[in-house]
Amino acid sequence: MKQQIIEAFEQQFGERPSHLIRSPGRVNLIGEHTDYNDGFVLPMAIDRAVWLAVRGREDGRVLVHSLEQTEPTDFALTDFQHSGGWAEYVKGMARALLDAGYKLAGWEGVLTSDVPVGSGLSSSAALEMAVGMAFAAVSDFPFDGVEMARLGQKTENEWVGANTGIMDQMIAANGQAGFALLIDCRDLSTEPIPLPKGTAVLIMDTATRHTHTDSGYNERRKSCERAAQFFGVSHLRDVTIEQFEARAAELDDVTMRRARHIITENERTLAAAAAMKAGDAEKLGELMNASHASLHIDFEVTNNELDIMARIAQAQPGCFGARMTGGGFGGCVVTLVDEKRAEEVGTAVAAQYQSATPLTPQIFVTSASAGTAVLPL
Ligand code: ADP
Ligand code: MG
Repeated sequence: MKQQIIEAFEQQFGERPSHLIRSPGRVNLIGEHTDYNDGFVLPMAIDRAVWLAVRGREDGRVLVHSLEQTEPTDFALTDFQHSGGWAEYVKGMARALLDAGYKLAGWEGVLTSDVPVGSGLSSSAALEMAVGMAFAAVSDFPFDGVEMARLGQKTENEWVGANTGIMDQMIAANGQAGFALLIDCRDLSTEPIPLPKGTAVLIMDTATRHTHTDSGYNERRKSCERAAQFFGVSHLRDVTIEQFEARAAELDDVTMRRARHIITENERTLAAAAAMKAGDAEKLGELMNASHASLHIDFEVTNNELDIMARIAQAQPGCFGARMTGGGFGGCVVTLVDEKRAEEVGTAVAAQYQSATPLTPQIFVTSASAGTAVLPL
């Protein structure tokens, strides 16, 4: 993709770019919907990414072509409004950076991406962090991964209108090759955690999609806020299982189940990090399976296809565990497998999923990659 995007830039602008940026998608191993509850998440940046080649402009305009889109994004930094479409992610980052006091130079560039859109691998955060890095590179300020993640979340929340948490931007910006990252979404501290030896991660795309206008996501947030209020805390992160159990019966059934997912998922995520450190693939797999069940029964963000895919994956010899990953309502299952059987598991799951549904899945092995970076040209 590197060569492809440099050539596309040269074709568009007649010379070599000054900077080449790679910004990864991510897969979340465990810790789902916990980020906006100030909890714990355990994602890794993946080998699929947004690639963006740029050069600075003197006139304070931003012009970006995407090889996956027909319309370019084109606006002046001094005066821009909402326009809809993918331009929103570029403009939103510009707005957030300007509001935070950064002096921005204009730039032009070309991007391409092999992160599937709307599949739970966070193509939007990959794009936001790539744009943030482009502004940092041409405007000559340092890219601070935590600060940039905050601005990316602001872009989603305030400019795009998706009320998402901060996990996606944190992992895209701060991922480390060879490691997943345990992120405390309260203080945004991170700890690199290696996968258990001899395991591999498979991403299994159900070929069903969420849309960012799904009301389900915002509804889940509201339920969590309601539950936190009931327990007299700012976020469900602060409610222990014991505190929850003591008063769960006072909650309506839906709010009770939403809260139970978050509170148990936080525990599972910390236990998963401990299992990974101990090299315990069996335990990590069990926790992933339990996470899926909780997302299915309590949080109700799986769809039929995610449930079918997870069930098929979990039944394979050589599979330690499988769960839906990302916000849900469509997208991908993440599966932990014995490295030596990765291909075999992938082939078997693809065949069984195809006979259980009318859909053709995409199944691929992924590895933990580095976060957003400027690469040598
Ligand atoms: P995801 O779960 O993949 O993050 P979102 O709905 O949050 O899904 O974000 C997807 C949006 O990000 C797309 O609709 C598009 O606006 C933007 N996007 C993703 N990839 C690209 C790309 N290669 N080129 C332009 N825009 C992109
Ligand atoms: Mg997104």
